[in-house]
Amino acid sequence: MQDGAISSNTVERLINVVGRKHALTQPADIAPFTADTRGRYDTHSPLVVRPGTVEEVCAVIKIASETKTGVVPQGGNTGLVGAGIPSVEGSGREVILSLGRMNRIINVDAPSNTMTVEAGAVLDSIQKAASDADRLFPLALGSQGTCQIGGNISSNAGGIGVLAYGNTRDLILGLEVVLPSGEIWKGLSNLRKDNTGYDLKNLFIGAEGTLGVVTKAVLKLFPKPKGREVSYIALQSPENALALLNLAKDMAGNGATGFELISKSALNCTINDPVSPQRNPIAGDHPWYVLMEISSGRSTQDARATLERVLTQALALDIIVDAAIAETIAQQNTFWLMRENMSGSQRALGASIKHDISVPVGKIPEFISRADKAVMKIIPQGRIINFGHMGDGNLHYNISQPEGWKTEDFFKHEGVVNDAVFEIVALLGGSISAEHGIGQMKRHRLAALKDPTALAMMRQIKAAFDPEGIMNPHKVL
Ligand SMILES: Cc1cc2nc3c(=O)[nH]c(=O)nc-3n(C[C@H](O)[C@H](O)[C@H](O)COP(=O)(O)OP(=O)(O)OC[C@H]3O[C@@H](n4cnc5c(N)ncnc54)[C@H](O)[C@@H]3O)c2cc1C
Repeated sequence: MQDGAISSNTVERLINVVGRKHALTQPADIAPFTADTRGRYDTHSPLVVRPGTVEEVCAVIKIASETKTGVVPQGGNTGLVGAGIPSVEGSGREVILSLGRMNRIINVDAPSNTMTVEAGAVLDSIQKAASDADRLFPLALGSQGTCQIGGNISSNAGGIGVLAYGNTRDLILGLEVVLPSGEIWKGLSNLRKDNTGYDLKNLFIGAEGTLGVVTKAVLKLFPKPKGREVSYIALQSPENALALLNLAKDMAGNGATGFELISKSALNCTINDPVSPQRNPIAGDHPWYVLMEISSGRSTQDARATLERVLTQALALDIIVDAAIAETIAQQNTFWLMRENMSGSQRALGASIKHDISVPVGKIPEFISRADKAVMKIIPQGRIINFGHMGDGNLHYNISQPEGWKTEDFFKHEGVVNDAVFEIVALLGGSISAEHGIGQMKRHRLAALKDPTALAMMRQIKAAFDPEGIMNPHKVL
């Protein structure tokens, strides 16, 4: 990658590819594309190009390759690790390639249970297209009204459906990708089985735009559940939550489609949300909650009966204290919305040191107990806001700044807190990034903590695909 500023000639050539109407050069127009969701980075770019076709993407990448210009692919820019904005190191010298105009749902093949889409299709429009064909596309995230499938693929997004349907990686059959050379890899397979060598699509899933630009994808669809029941459950401890998870899996099998652990402090964030405060779903004061969803391929009555059986048994075994079942679809949606908005509601408490960790599911209680002790030793006044996809062994283990503290003083502790939390994660055989990725935020952590052989293989793959280092420079590796 080149070190100096991008020449005006290169900028003009790139603008000519997409047309002036689809190129942004004014700082005020570019600002939303360099804004980082968490407000942790202040970076700039001289140009945003918004191609409308794969051929235009190829032409942009060919010019970038020839001129050694860094390119940052961008979807909905909802990522949480600074991956979809220019890097601090390359600020002002990287061009943003925004996929938002390439947003067509190309085809829904209901008999094959597949859908072909362009990378810029917004996730909730994909969910709707699947639903209109009486199918389910199960990827669901709090950012689904803005994030794009290309971004979901490139960050291997998780979300609330992973327990039953897996990560984005499990939902992709084929991809079309523009490689750093400008060539197109036409891997739009819709085969369920294909053992003809290396599984190339998996290299691009979760690559955070460092190996190429995803331009199209073939997605897996599923039958729509006929019934769905959602409940908030109060319990005494994460150990009880683990017991409930296993009970639900035993009794409901694949029907256990959602299982989120929520601490009292996290629930309080949504109850006290300054913009849209929510009602406490369960009377009384409890240290822990679980948001559990049970689905049925047969009927609503079947889902309800299964949920009630699980709750009755859990009460009899003293695993849970109380439960509230949503009585209407609107209430079900509110229950889920409270969970999805938890990060946003937490903002009212000020700055936050965030972790998106995973450990083996059975070790979640041990992780919480060890991490709480370690964090309290470092910042006794810190407010631990802990919630997450317990069914997947993934927690958003966040610490909000103590009341009355200045943000800059709080962030002075970030490195030490992260060291302590990541040490426990490593001890329990976990991962420092379960779903948000590495981006520019956790790059130095990855370099320090990832197995050296794995890192060396990743560097070789990057060098083989992108010898000039033009694709999303200074990210991941
Ligand atoms: C309220 C909220 C809730 C969230 N909940 C979850 C959650 O539950 N689970 C979860 O996993 N994440 C979650 N996220 C994080 C984020 O929404 C996801 O990572 C999402 O998948 C990012 O999609 P995007 O289109 O916004 O991608 P961007 O942020 O634009 O980009 C993300 C990465 O993908 C790359 N990229 C984007 N498009 C392409 C492309 N076409 N080709 C190649 N590379 C590309 C970018 O360069 C960057 O590295 C949440 C975020 C918010 C704000």
